Amino acid sequence: MSNPQLSVGLLFTCAIDFRDVARKYAIKNGRNMFIKNEKDKVRVVCSVGCPWVVYAAQVRNEKTFQVRTYHAEHTCGRVSKNNNLTSRYLWKKYVDHFLNDPKLFIGVFMNTMRS
Ligand SMILES: [Zn+2]
Repeated sequence: MSNPQLSVGLLFTCAIDFRDVARKYAIKNGRNMFIKNEKDKVRVVCSVGCPWVVYAAQVRNEKTFQVRTYHAEHTCGRVSKNNNLTSRYLWKKYVDHFLNDPKLFIGVFMNTMRS
């Protein structure tokens, strides 16, 4: 999994794409992030007391979301148990592997997960 790079001005096709990238960032960097959705805005914050934040808002008259604020510094530490790593996330990430190879054994899946 590559480490998603975030920056002010970055565009996403929709709020779902933005949330997916934020979730990937949280997992890759070992942080527990909290996603707060509003009608045309999404704010992702880190654990209590950490200043890390990314905020994206919908571009007027489009579905596109754009990063408006990004504070990249963490004061928190990495976590061993990540609340962003959900079964839904894993299913979405690996469903193509299962559909392409129905004989996939759990051992192969575990190796894929570690890579
Ligand atoms: Zn943090």
